Amino acid sequence: MNGQMMQQPLLISTLLIHAERHHAAQEIVSRRVEGDIHRYTFRDLAARARQAANALRALGAQPGARIATLAWNGYRHMELYYAVSGSGSVLHTLNPRLHADQLSYIMDHAEDDILFFDLTFLPLVEAVVDRVQCKTFVALTDRAHMPVTKLPNLLCYEELLAGQSDSFAWPALDENSASSLCYTSGTTGNPKGVLYSQRSTVLHTYAAALPDALNCSASDVILPVVPMFHVNAWGLPYVACMVGAKLVFPGPALDGKSLHSLFESEQVTLSAGVPTVWQGLLAYVETNGLSFSSMRRTIIGGAACPPAMMKTFQDLFQVHVLHAWGMTELSPVGTVCSFKPVHRTMDKSAQEAVQSKQGRVVFGVDMKIVDDSGRELPWDGKASGELLVRGPWIVSRYFKDEGGDPLVDGWFPTGDVATIDANGFMQITDRAKDVIKSGGEWIGSIDIENIAMAHPGVAMAACIAAYHPKWDERPLLLVVAKPGQSLTREALLAFFDGKIAKWWTPDDVVFVDAIPLGATGKMLKHKLREMFREHRLPTV
Ligand code: ADP
Repeated sequence: MNGQMMQQPLLISTLLIHAERHHAAQEIVSRRVEGDIHRYTFRDLAARARQAANALRALGAQPGARIATLAWNGYRHMELYYAVSGSGSVLHTLNPRLHADQLSYIMDHAEDDILFFDLTFLPLVEAVVDRVQCKTFVALTDRAHMPVTKLPNLLCYEELLAGQSDSFAWPALDENSASSLCYTSGTTGNPKGVLYSQRSTVLHTYAAALPDALNCSASDVILPVVPMFHVNAWGLPYVACMVGAKLVFPGPALDGKSLHSLFESEQVTLSAGVPTVWQGLLAYVETNGLSFSSMRRTIIGGAACPPAMMKTFQDLFQVHVLHAWGMTELSPVGTVCSFKPVHRTMDKSAQEAVQSKQGRVVFGVDMKIVDDSGRELPWDGKASGELLVRGPWIVSRYFKDEGGDPLVDGWFPTGDVATIDANGFMQITDRAKDVIKSGGEWIGSIDIENIAMAHPGVAMAACIAAYHPKWDERPLLLVVAKPGQSLTREALLAFFDGKIAKWWTPDDVVFVDAIPLGATGKMLKHKLREMFREHRLPTV
């Protein structure tokens, strides 16, 4: 016997319809590429998304066609999120921090038909135009700001919209149809496309918004620093419409000063980003003796959040840190470190230790850890093995079947190495590729980096495997010192005393000017390993 409830497909357009009908006056504030601050409401967003959907039809966009964006976080990008996916095409968000070679590879692999881009990225578009199949280019600006360019027939977004009606009936799509496409950033081999569906996106949105997940409500003012080109800004553009939260978009200005002024002027309550962006912000706020008057929570993920950074946010600024883990392949939210009642009675330092974990799954995601032979490992907080996940917003195959079938018995192997404790809190100890294997035993590079980052003289630290004649690999610590600090190798090594097992202490420290970061702000350890391939560890 079937249930007798209404059958309605889970569609991205319904998020926008809901936001317009129930939160019409809620604001979206954007710092524009043109330099000024733009503000409008969900009512305006919905009307302009419908105009954009009409414009896409006029440009000949077919159902399922890939429509690319190369854009910062801003209202025009948001309009395309809904116009493209809502009308049945596939939104392909490109990462502008990629090299032109990678970008043209990805655009052709995805078979992008139209590219919408922010003016900042004109040089990048000019660098790829002769190398890609895509023939239609649209600048996300008005006529007055249209650039002089060698791009043939460059279209102007505001003109395209102005010529279109703001009525458009969002089609009743199959909820399993493709809605958007993101390529993994390529820190692990060739970029591969992850093709989300209408249904997976809406389910992910419900889960991400929950109190023990990203905890979003109509009372929030959300400023996603995480880019809309990096796994859909972790789903926040969809969550904001679902819950009716005010959105604040920082555009291209991601320096500490610009971000802080926007946090304050718009009274932001919740933000989200990778650890590296918070470093600049915290340094600016601390040096200038400032504070956060409205921000109460920040979500940090994409890479392990150093406990020292958490402490600064929480102790100095009363901003609670939500440590989260995810991947492009997971849409991206997998786990969030929200306390259970058992943690509430713990003392502060025990709570901080819990917070350095990546947390527990949100409903919809299941996880397990396995040993080298695939046997499931216990949840004792000690046994570590590869982390596998499954759920309705987790990839089942990559776009165009790149790389073959990725699943193992229906589970997706994440390539991360983790422990899970008795409360179900997962902690990433490393990426399988970054693990240091010393005499056959694993050393977790994240632990070592976290300790180094707690030293007051350290701005950034990366721990990699270096060749060792006896142990095969030993940890080598690369450190960027804070300006004006006289930090020595010996002092830093002594700092590890009593904080980890003696044999985990790095064999050597090298001071560097910078640590190479990838397109999503993560440390490029494979590059570091290449750079230090010839490094000889001291033999004592
Ligand atoms: P890429 O795999 O190309 O870097 P993603 O942005 O999808 O692209 O990155 C996912 C990976 O980022 C995870 O597999 C994990 O290694 C790392 N990661 C994400 N969040 C965290 C976190 N909170 N702590 C440690 N590592 C994290």
